[in-house]
Amino acid sequence: MFNITVYNMQRLHSIASVKLWAIANYLSSDLPYRLSPEDVFLTVGGTQAIDIILPVLARPGANILLPRPGYPQYDSRAACCQLEVRYFDLLPRRGWEVDLDSLEAMTDDNTVAMVLINPSNPCGNVFTYQHLEKVAETAKKLGICVISDEVYAHVAFGSNPFVPMGVFSSIVPVITIGSLSKRWLIPGWRTGWIATCDPNKIFQKTGIVANIISYLEITSDPLTFMQAAVPQILEKTKAEFHVKNLDMMREAADIFYDVCKEIPCLTCPHKPEGAMAAMVEINFSHVKGIIDDVDFCIKLAREESVILLPGVTVGLKNWLRISIAVDLSDLQEGLSRLKAFSLRHAVS
Ligand SMILES: *Cc1c(COP(=O)(O)O)cnc(C)c1O
Repeated sequence: MFNITVYNMQRLHSIASVKLWAIANYLSSDLPYRLSPEDVFLTVGGTQAIDIILPVLARPGANILLPRPGYPQYDSRAACCQLEVRYFDLLPRRGWEVDLDSLEAMTDDNTVAMVLINPSNPCGNVFTYQHLEKVAETAKKLGICVISDEVYAHVAFGSNPFVPMGVFSSIVPVITIGSLSKRWLIPGWRTGWIATCDPNKIFQKTGIVANIISYLEITSDPLTFMQAAVPQILEKTKAEFHVKNLDMMREAADIFYDVCKEIPCLTCPHKPEGAMAAMVEINFSHVKGIIDDVDFCIKLAREESVILLPGVTVGLKNWLRISIAVDLSDLQEGLSRLKAFSLRHAVS
């Protein structure tokens, strides 16, 4: 009996490291150095990665810098662990780049990290190598680490290639959040990871790695059969699968952008080139009878059965967040209803 238990434990450990090796190898292929399995922690989707990393960094009086617009899970999680949130702006007319001046201005000795989402949900941009390098340099100067939410890694279908923040981890330590949900289109399978990209071992020296390990001991793991499937999914998915999905997203972005240009009350400052959504600004001088973004979305839902997220939910009042990750025929239908609605409410 005892021997069987020992044997099973050893087998479990070897299975455990197989999937961590697979993720480490997968991520390392885009990095200038190699991650080891000790740098990787499996999570129940990107969501649990956020749920773990924020309390791990929180301490009394600490604050974290979040992008505006951003992903609301960060705000909710920060509130739950009493981490003060400060917002830095992403600049719509500069391809949604980080406003580095505002970032610097709001950082103080209690700032623990900044979050960057690349490719960006909700903005749909993909940050350039040059800009990411500037962000890394700024974070280094400010003495904060970078949490790089890369759940949309490689979902880049425009001219900017996806560059992981980990490329700059010799400048600044980076916590990468990844997931199978988006690139593999399996959000319900709940599998993701945290990777510490930190060749200088700063996270180890400051106890952050130990805190992640302790946190994982008091929470649940992804489904066992998903854990076993991770290496297959990462290593054996055919290139055509990704190519086909990116082609579809590129076409969706084209359709979306073209219709937007035909709607006078909506402006999309930056054509989506990554992730699965875009932000458009409502020009209230072109509409009547609508008071704000929430009102716009409620009336659109009532009149046309089209559901959009009001910008206020992602931090930008009087904008709209539009998901383009739907069947192209549904996208076309939805956009034509949005156009009909906007024209019906236009100032004559
Ligand atoms: C979807 C998403 C997540 C959560 O990922 P899951 O694997 O679905 O839990 C985290 N961050 C961003 C920016 C997302 O869009």
